[in-house]
Amino acid sequence: MGECVVCSGHFEASFVAVDFRTITNALPLPAKTDKPDFLHTMQVFKFGGASLKDAAGIRNVANILQRHRDKSLVIVVSAMGKTTNALEAVVAAHYKQDGQAQVLLDAIKEQHYAVMRELFPPKHEVFAAVNDAFVEAEWVLEEPPAANYDYAYDQIVCVGELVSSRIAAAYLNYVGLPTQWLDARDVIITDNTYREGWVLWDKTKPNALRIIPPMLEKSPFVLTQGFIASSTENFTTTLGREGSDYSAAIFSFCLDAESMTIWKDVPGVLNADPRLFENTIKLDRLSYREAIEMTYYGAQVIHPKTIKPLQNKSIPLYVKSFLDPEAPGTEISSDVDETYPPIVVVEKNQTLLHIITNDYSFVAEQHIARLFAELSELRIFVNVMQNTAISFTICVPNIPDRIEKFIQRIADQFYVKRQDGLELITVRHYNEETIANLKKGRIVLFEERLRNTLQMVVKNVPAVERREVELERAKG
Ligand code: ADP
Ligand code: ASP
Ligand code: MG
Repeated sequence: MGECVVCSGHFEASFVAVDFRTITNALPLPAKTDKPDFLHTMQVFKFGGASLKDAAGIRNVANILQRHRDKSLVIVVSAMGKTTNALEAVVAAHYKQDGQAQVLLDAIKEQHYAVMRELFPPKHEVFAAVNDAFVEAEWVLEEPPAANYDYAYDQIVCVGELVSSRIAAAYLNYVGLPTQWLDARDVIITDNTYREGWVLWDKTKPNALRIIPPMLEKSPFVLTQGFIASSTENFTTTLGREGSDYSAAIFSFCLDAESMTIWKDVPGVLNADPRLFENTIKLDRLSYREAIEMTYYGAQVIHPKTIKPLQNKSIPLYVKSFLDPEAPGTEISSDVDETYPPIVVVEKNQTLLHIITNDYSFVAEQHIARLFAELSELRIFVNVMQNTAISFTICVPNIPDRIEKFIQRIADQFYVKRQDGLELITVRHYNEETIANLKKGRIVLFEERLRNTLQMVVKNVPAVERREVELERAKG
């Protein structure tokens, strides 16, 4: 048994270092490992919603895979385009019971059918497989809303990945790339924290090792879903929004993949979100540590939980462009000794909570312990914190119902001043010029500088601009 660095639990070590020669000289030397060659070189590829957003996208993915047809690959796919957002609206309508849930689901179905009509002949079996997946979601809509919203959410929203994976696998087979479809829920097992399942590694890893190698032996491509998993009671769970990158890392970890590649609509990891900033540059190499820091503070290009399982097994992660698949992208691995440019991460929709003791007593350890116990129970994630003698300030994502509950729960001891509509800007490897640029048009409410990292919580205040008009003189 070994200590699992990911789950802090125990697992059966896959290879135990035993020198058989000390047991008996008569035995031949053991083989290097007991793994067949195709498992030594297997890789994990992940294609996100942007790469699969329409029929042209799926054709492009097939073209990329065509170039890797000699590899053993586990291919992880997300829902197509913005399907998950659309399915979230179905769940919300189901709870309103306003008759719109089925209408919204029908629109999602039609989008998928339109893509299938472009890719397949009319009688192709994929139509029935996709229809079956939608029927399962419809069964949930026929029942009155379950008491647990998050549970119902997972049972409905999973259909996005189930149908995209059916379509992608069928298309690869259709164009001559033999591909087996795998239900990720047979492999990835979580606790029953719906919408944010916590992976049970001691169940997931044996499943992966039992199910996937025999499939890869049969034919080199296995295609499965990101984001979705199963509870031990066989209910569908999900791993949190944008969680498909994390799914791919789970498969990579369990199977000791040679590498993992995520295919995005950007040339690689850039030093800032190109939707928010001009003049971004691509980072050719990044250390796991730098990648963890960036994603922890909200760099949306990679899901924050992705890096740790890969780092634990020294599996390199490549971030590459599905629009320019031959370009080198970004490599994330260990011991990268690089000087980084300033790297900027912006998290929008933040709230500052200034928490002050009701009786003006000092904020002491027992206060902080209580505050964190409440925050952790309500699953409120603290991005930055600071304290003075009688106050404690935290910056958290604005999730209104959870924040309101938090304020109510601590009202006996604390008074809370709240500011919404803020941005958290984190700058790694900062210089004064970058900071000055970022502060333009903003009021800084909170700032903290460490050697490598500067964080500020800001409010956008567009600079006033002079109007060139003559004002009428006051009469007098
Ligand atoms: P997926 O299709 O896998 O879901 P995402 O849309 O989640 O892909 O992630 C890719 C997007 O992340 C890019 O289109 C880009 O706008 C955004 N992004 C944010 N920060 C960065 C960054 N530092 N480098 C590259 N892309 C970034
Ligand atoms: N489809 C899911 C989402 O949009 C998971 C993912 O894309 O990574 O959040
Ligand atoms: Mg995404």
